[in-house]
Amino acid sequence: MAGLIVQVTGRRFAIPFECPCCGAPPDQELHLPRARGAHAAPDSAAALDVPYCSRCLRHAEAWDTAGVGSAFVLVLGVLACILISLVVARPLLGLIALLASIPIALVVAGARRRRAKAGCTESCASPGIALAYQGYNGTLTSIAFESLTYAARFAEHNTGIVLETPQLRRLLEGHRIARLQVPTPAAAVSMSAAPTPAEWRAKITAAKGPLARRTALSRALDALPDDAARRDLVAAAAEVELADTLSKARSLSGASKRQHLEAAIAAVRADNIPEPLQAAELAQLEAAMASA
Ligand SMILES: [Zn+2]
Ligand SMILES: [Zn+2]
Repeated sequence: MAGLIVQVTGRRFAIPFECPCCGAPPDQELHLPRARGAHAAPDSAAALDVPYCSRCLRHAEAWDTAGVGSAFVLVLGVLACILISLVVARPLLGLIALLASIPIALVVAGARRRRAKAGCTESCASPGIALAYQGYNGTLTSIAFESLTYAARFAEHNTGIVLETPQLRRLLEGHRIARLQVPTPAAAVSMSAAPTPAEWRAKITAAKGPLARRTALSRALDALPDDAARRDLVAAAAEVELADTLSKARSLSGASKRQHLEAAIAAVRADNIPEPLQAAELAQLEAAMASA
């Protein structure tokens, strides 16, 4: 993918909570593996959690799997070639079968890509996945964006740590002017009372994915002045995030248990995760390690 590459210092940064393809409110999360071929440090996170809307996730998945159908047709072509050459002893006919499978494979891939494109809306940035996580190189985290609007929003969310290239500065200036010309309608002011710690806790434990949970936790930590309540919410979030890892650890013993916990500790250290949550998760994992 081409896109605009934006870099931030460090491995902790904010992800705007909107669809990176069309800008709609997200209702899904995507665990996006690091792009192949990216020059990442060995301790870079292996993946990035990003929000997505379900419509864009559908067209992006259809686009990405276009190659799978055509590969299947090519495999059939090769098998037909081998069978006809060996069993019927007609190598020329086998070769023709193989050659015939190539245009069929192209047609299959083309049909899938057209279907993916038909699923896009006018505001979609790309028929495929609209961003690529290129990992952490020891100093900087790089992400490539197909949507310039989303790239600008990402830069605005990470003021102070984003690397302001001339290209990005021009984009941000254009984005600011566009917004002045088309004022966004003021958000309706919610008159409901601020959530109680118990309500925050329910939001955090019921969140559908890690991104929604971490967003809820960050909001709760900003909203709650009481230290004990904040600590309780961080512990609750850590418990949910580590539930699978710790239950698997309990089923293991000896060297394999230590290996499993060491991998989990490295993943938490590398992850883009709010600082207090990271500290709480590391403490829980290290406690499990000490008893291993
Ligand atoms: Zn979308
Ligand atoms: Zn889209």
